[in-house]
Amino acid sequence: MRILLLAPPGAGKGTQADRISAHFRVPHISTGDLFRRHVAEGTPLGREVDAYLRRGDLVPDHIVLGIVEEAVADALTRTGGYLLDGFPRTLAQARQGYQIARRLGATADAVLHFDVSEPELMRRLLERGLSDGRADDTEETIRHRIDVYKTETAPLLGYYRGRGVLVTIDAEKPVDQVTEESIAALEAMQETAGA
Ligand code: ADP
Repeated sequence: MRILLLAPPGAGKGTQADRISAHFRVPHISTGDLFRRHVAEGTPLGREVDAYLRRGDLVPDHIVLGIVEEAVADALTRTGGYLLDGFPRTLAQARQGYQIARRLGATADAVLHFDVSEPELMRRLLERGLSDGRADDTEETIRHRIDVYKTETAPLLGYYRGRGVLVTIDAEKPVDQVTEESIAALEAMQETAGA
C-alpha cells in the first residue's frame, strides 16, 4: 500500500501515521522527523534547514525532493509500499513527487486527509509546545504554519479529489476512532485499486 498523508499541523499526523503504517506493514516516512533528526545531529543538511523549521517556513523544494526520493526508494526496496507524512506540501512538490514516483513505478494508491478546525489545531499545538518543547510550537510560529498550510497545501485537496484518490477523515474524533476510520477507508481504496 502506498499512502500520502495530508493534514494541517496539529491534526495528529505522527500518531496516526505510526499506527496506520504498522497496520499496512509499510515504513512511516515523516519529512518533518527526517529534518528534525538532521538538525539534532548537526549534519550539513540539518544546518541548512534549521532556520526554516524554526520559522515554520517550507524547506526549499530541491532539499525536500532529495530526502523524499531517497527514503521512498529505500521503503520500496524493503516493503514495496510507504506512508509518506508531510509530503507533498505544495502543488509543485506534488507534481515533481508524481514524476519521481512514476519513475520508481510506485505512485500513491490513496491520499489520506485529516480534517480539524483551526481553533482545535491551535489548542493541540500549544499544548504540545508545553509538553514536548518542540522549537516551532510557539503561538506565532503555529499561526504561521497554519497559514502556510491554508495557502500552499490545502489546494492539493482539490488536485487529489479530481484524481479520485482523496479520503477525508474527521480527525477531531477520538484517536482510536480516527485510526479505525482511516484504516477502513484505505482498505476500501486498496480493494478498488486492486492492489
Ligand atoms: P507540522 O505539520 O506540525 O508543521 P511536520 O513535522 O510535518 O510538522 O513539519 C515540520 C517542518 O518541517 C515544517 O514546518 C517545514 O519547515 C518542514 N517540512 C516538512 N515537510 C516539508 C515539505 N514537504 N516541504 C517543505 N518543508 C517541509
